[in-house]
Amino acid sequence: MKLFRIRGGVHPDDCKALAAEQAIVDLQMPELLHIPVQQHIGAAAKPVVQRGDSVRKGQLLAHSQGAISAPVHAPTSGRIVGIGNYPAHHPSGLLVRTITLQPDGEDRWCDDLPPPMDPFNSTPDAIAERVALSGIVGMGGATFPSSVKLNLRNRYRLEKLVINGAECEPYLTCDDRLMREHADQVIDGIRIMAHALGVTHTVIGIENNKPDAQRLLHEACARFGDIDVVGLPTRYPMGSEKHMVQTLTGLETPARALTADIGVVVHNVATAHAVHRAVRHGEPLISRVVTVSGGAIGKPANLRVLIGTPVEDLIDYCGGLTSTPERLISGGPMMGQLLPGTRVPVVKGSNGVLALTATDVGIASEMPCIRCASCVDACPCGLLPVEMAAHARAGDLDGTVRLGLTDCIACGSCSFVCPSNIPLVQYFNYAKGELASRQRAQHKQLETKRLAEQRTARMEEIKRKKREAMEKRKREMAAKKAKAAAAPAERSAQA
Ligand code: SF4
Ligand code: SF4
Repeated sequence: MKLFRIRGGVHPDDCKALAAEQAIVDLQMPELLHIPVQQHIGAAAKPVVQRGDSVRKGQLLAHSQGAISAPVHAPTSGRIVGIGNYPAHHPSGLLVRTITLQPDGEDRWCDDLPPPMDPFNSTPDAIAERVALSGIVGMGGATFPSSVKLNLRNRYRLEKLVINGAECEPYLTCDDRLMREHADQVIDGIRIMAHALGVTHTVIGIENNKPDAQRLLHEACARFGDIDVVGLPTRYPMGSEKHMVQTLTGLETPARALTADIGVVVHNVATAHAVHRAVRHGEPLISRVVTVSGGAIGKPANLRVLIGTPVEDLIDYCGGLTSTPERLISGGPMMGQLLPGTRVPVVKGSNGVLALTATDVGIASEMPCIRCASCVDACPCGLLPVEMAAHARAGDLDGTVRLGLTDCIACGSCSFVCPSNIPLVQYFNYAKGELASRQRAQHKQLETKRLAEQRTARMEEIKRKKREAMEKRKREMAAKKAKAAAAPAERSAQA
């Protein structure tokens, strides 16, 4: 298949050798599971259990709320010992609403799991509904509810499903292992999604540093004529949705548009595997594969982990920390999030836990910009990082937006190539945070204004009605008086 060249991108050392040959291992049951009710983009799920309740594996713990949301389920059987705030995947140490479950060690499934489906004799709506009820979200890290993407067929003319098997972030190997060890199940999930979307062609993109995964998926789908497995150049950020679509189809997704606008939907390989489990076995999303790696990890590994397992359990299983890490990250080193500590739980979007040493990180002091334009050449979105950063530094938010801040995918390629070690992407993340809070404040202001206007209108209406009632009463009184005054004259006329 012909590939199309995209602009920018960088070639960091992939560091995948640390964990790539480690087969997936089931992590032992933790003592406590901390399950956040928001592990996805959209509205938080609403708890339906209470402290003290006994639950079974797969039982609903919190149901989705609104059009963009996802439910969460019990990863094992046990007792709910708390519903409260717990540290989240956020460097600020943000606390989020979390259900804490104490496993009973019996791991008993609940009795009312949905029955296995025959997907190719089921309607697309029935498949999307099963995916929604199973709490499946984009497992490549995006965490967008997958059923919403499957329902895009109702609003867009879709032609192609692209499966993201690039795993372009250094260190991460969980998708690679999943493709190598569960190729048939991944292909089954992909075919179910293609059927639900109503597309006739599927392309699986896998970077060329994963030849075994390419071969095994190719063999697994060889008997189906409508799936292509395509090797992609190993270049970061190949796994970015829009860039992968462009590489595979030559079609560029316009700024602020969706790939669905050009007829393409993208899902991740781990999401496909979760769809297979949900549709064929009725299992909700309660576990995932996580790569534990980095120079400060004793024995890097790929672990199948229950959602809610504390990160410290993963690190302990991998031989603990060999030195104090310079950075502890959830996800990859380029786009992952700094973790505030090891108590935070694994969530549906956690594809990696990295403990990186100062050597891994390559810390160097920041120097003045030498206007070399390397960051401009590296930007896959065609932006001017050096200029955007200057505006961000000066606090000129509108200037950064004019230069394309909202199109920046925060891939970090510009920071990676900068010879002056300027943390450009940190400026953009900060500016995006400021922009989001400004938009929230504007929204609040508009909402307050709307409510005040509604109140004024209500008061005016009440006043108007009072005025009308008074005028009516006055008219009635006047009519009564006039009638009373006219009565004696009428009586004398009759007499
Ligand atoms: S972080 Fe943003 S500005 Fe920098 S290279 Fe990536 S997309 Fe471009
Ligand atoms: S890469 Fe760094 S030094 Fe070069 S122009 Fe960009 S910000 Fe300046």
